[in-house]
Amino acid sequence: MRKLTGIAAAPGLAVGEVRMIPRRPAGITRSVQAPHQEKALYEAARILAKDELAAISGRAQEADRDIFVFQQVMLDDAGLNRAVMEEIDSGAAAADAVERAGEVYAQRLREVEDAYISQRAADVYDVCRRVTDILDGRPRERLYLTRPAIVLADEILPSDLITIDRDLILGFVTGEGSAQGHAAIIARTMGIPAIVNAGPEALQVPEGALAALDGAAGEVYIAPDEATKARFLHRMGLARRRSLSLEKLKKLPCITRDGVQIQLMANCSSARDIALAMEAGAEGVGLLRSEFLFMSGQLPDEEAQYHFYTDCLQEAAGKPVTIRTFDIGADKEVAGISMEKEQNPALGLRGLRLSLEKAQLFDSQLAALLRAARCGRLKVMFPMVTGPEDFDLAMAAVGRARARLEQQGVPYSDEVEWGVMVETPAAALQAEELAVRAAFFSIGTNDLTQYTLAADRVNPGVAKYYDPSSPAVLRLMGMTLAGARKYGRSVSVCGESAALPDMALRYARMGLRTLSMASTALLPVKDRLMESTVLGGEDT
Ligand code: PEP
Ligand code: MG
Repeated sequence: MRKLTGIAAAPGLAVGEVRMIPRRPAGITRSVQAPHQEKALYEAARILAKDELAAISGRAQEADRDIFVFQQVMLDDAGLNRAVMEEIDSGAAAADAVERAGEVYAQRLREVEDAYISQRAADVYDVCRRVTDILDGRPRERLYLTRPAIVLADEILPSDLITIDRDLILGFVTGEGSAQGHAAIIARTMGIPAIVNAGPEALQVPEGALAALDGAAGEVYIAPDEATKARFLHRMGLARRRSLSLEKLKKLPCITRDGVQIQLMANCSSARDIALAMEAGAEGVGLLRSEFLFMSGQLPDEEAQYHFYTDCLQEAAGKPVTIRTFDIGADKEVAGISMEKEQNPALGLRGLRLSLEKAQLFDSQLAALLRAARCGRLKVMFPMVTGPEDFDLAMAAVGRARARLEQQGVPYSDEVEWGVMVETPAAALQAEELAVRAAFFSIGTNDLTQYTLAADRVNPGVAKYYDPSSPAVLRLMGMTLAGARKYGRSVSVCGESAALPDMALRYARMGLRTLSMASTALLPVKDRLMESTVLGGEDT
């Protein structure tokens, strides 16, 4: 028996035979024709690839469709196509040109420090691989499973998972990759247990060997002994029973044993996430990260944003949707928004600060939000607020956007609640002054922890200092609650810590009545809260 360890990418247990997916051949030598012939070959392959992607997105689950729509859009991307043409003009074969241009493009995305955007590099790689496979005459679908298996590969791509028969893939382990990548996101959506980044050893497992995979622990046992196998089968039985019992909670309100109702909302990035959240029983969207719109590499104009927000509100079918204005900045660079390099980007021009600098961009977002507000219950909040004057400036921008719409005769709604993300100590310390102005607060514990404890949230070297349960962070949260209460404002928590059942309970005991988290965490958190008491402080 051998144990491999990697990054936990999607929870779940599986026991089954291993199917190895060979690495794609590297360093192929291709013959080159005249540039105009290579360009014609590229154009034909590009169109065929788009066609294939359209067929795949037709087969994909609603929740995953956007990924393949994004990949189709990539194939029309002027920058990518120009780069391919330039490579061909300088003497490259079409397939080599696509590989090189794709690598440059993917690298640019990888350098963006926002994990979500940088992981879109895998989509660029996936789409370019499809075009080169067409040009080289290779089959596109790498995973042909004829019986249930645990798949081991160097990397799994989003299209690998969509084209696979869900009933046949028991789980997967990759040598490379990250938990923020789209393949991992799809695995979580599809409920496929997965481990990524298990290292090169993951590629040295004999085909057909038995494996026992624990996605949540990030562990896989190759050739497990009888005791390990029995342990896995037993846990799989228990997990099945537990998930069946949690299902029953979906439609129930979250009421603790001492009768306190806690509103459970979802963190989302798109209309497809909202559909999943509603399915999981979310009572609304507590945080919609609008940065998602920048994924396509183009700045969305007011019209594109209006459609995006409208889709989101419609998907929520009358439940509240809290949209956070763009939280981009020096640490989340976005093509098309020029920014100076900063020495301390987390302390730099980010969130609302950047929106206030980029008046036109902010105006188009605010106008799109005001227009979309006619389609549902919209709440809007501003990120990286450090004091009341920030909120006043943001509301002045709202006033200007409203006046413009009025002047242009464009219909909009004023039924919007305007709130503040409390994610800096300065905002928490001035909660009273902010509560006079804002309709609600949402505590972003991810950043509040980083700024309170001076511990960079993306630096593993200081991870031990980064603790959302630190008394310092909890005290600031308490001040936020007190400030809000004084003026009758509602408060929620939307940082990752709200998804941890024990922390969720702690927050409920502090007096928080709304929590927002990834949809997958809703039922476990609900379960924990419903079996607890929050008023007396003790479990019974
Ligand atoms: C937070 O800071 O807690 C938060 C929810 O925002 P983000 O993680 O997007 O910075
Ligand atoms: Mg934040």
